Amino acid sequence: AGGAVAQDHDHDHDHDHGDVTLYRVFVGDHEKGQVTAFDLSEPDHRWTFPTTGQVKLFPVAGGAVVAAVQSDADTVQFIRSGISFHDHGDHRDIEVGDPAAIDASLTGPRPFHLVEHDGKVVLNYDQGGYAEILEGGALAEGKVEPVKFPQARAHHGFVAPLGDSWLSTVASDEKVEGDASVPRLGLQAFDAEGKPAGDLASCTAIHGEAFSGAYLAAGCKEGVLTVKAGANGPEYRLLPYPADLPQGATTGTLLGSTGIQVFLGNYGPDGLVVLDPVDEPHYRYIKLPFRRVDFALDPAKPSTGYVLTEDGSLHRIDLLKAEIAASAKVTEPYSMDGHWNDPRPRLAMAGDEIVVTDPNAGLVRRIATESLEELGTVEVEGK
Ligand code: ZN
Repeated sequence: AGGAVAQDHDHDHDHDHGDVTLYRVFVGDHEKGQVTAFDLSEPDHRWTFPTTGQVKLFPVAGGAVVAAVQSDADTVQFIRSGISFHDHGDHRDIEVGDPAAIDASLTGPRPFHLVEHDGKVVLNYDQGGYAEILEGGALAEGKVEPVKFPQARAHHGFVAPLGDSWLSTVASDEKVEGDASVPRLGLQAFDAEGKPAGDLASCTAIHGEAFSGAYLAAGCKEGVLTVKAGANGPEYRLLPYPADLPQGATTGTLLGSTGIQVFLGNYGPDGLVVLDPVDEPHYRYIKLPFRRVDFALDPAKPSTGYVLTEDGSLHRIDLLKAEIAASAKVTEPYSMDGHWNDPRPRLAMAGDEIVVTDPNAGLVRRIATESLEELGTVEVEGK
């Protein structure tokens, strides 16, 4: 699992700091509990952090902290990225130091989805029947002070703040024979103590939450559920899959653009949809040549995304045209057959580069966004 912490800095003022752009890359080892961090421009500047188990990494608190979610080890650890900003009103100074592990961690039954929105970082405990809420600002100062948000039933879900509400996925009370998971029914508003504050919005098997503009979106069996904060609480709208999409597939993973109000989601294993929550057509379908391994949106170019397919090709996606604009082979094939948690590449963005982990080669590959050509590689031990 890879996560790039990207910090751009551009200002002119009386001290002579000049412009600083620094990308520090954090990479999780798939086999042993370890995170390697290095500076992209100077990979010999590197650090390693032991973790309890296998990690999925999330940059949070504006890149000041990297959260290492360890679902199988019932643990969430945090690493300060070593990059922070100091606001002087008319400008911000960047401060660059060594990354450092935060001593305090979270423990609980199977932490999984992490949602960051409105300055809150929320972890769902899939086997705990609760979530924990952290303040991003406090986390940036190394303080881990979780507030518990109870749920009626433990499930693989998420909790997210939206306006004055807390939205939580809701699972069924029914026990399914031979299935450890419980059916997910939809999304509902609660107060901070977990008491219902609205009706359930139906969204069967809800999964894959993302934010863009005013909207939260999540995939369901019957379509994509969108929500925005209204004067009288959350306003839900389910956008059914249109008849002209291939039948039988669904959306279960979404990415939200930060520059324009649009989502990029999967549609089945070998398709993508560009989703506009407001204007029709809500769905525009992109067929991929092979199944998707990972995808990412480009924060520097909001109408651009990238998807790696199992043949080892990286594709640049034009969200405005809903089409593949360019493709290039960047790794050996990584089949999507086998277990979902087998080691496979992950994408992270660093300015005009796509950073691709290649676990079988023990490398991080630096790919240019413009040409999709490899600019270089960084060796990282392990998987
Ligand atoms: Zn999930």
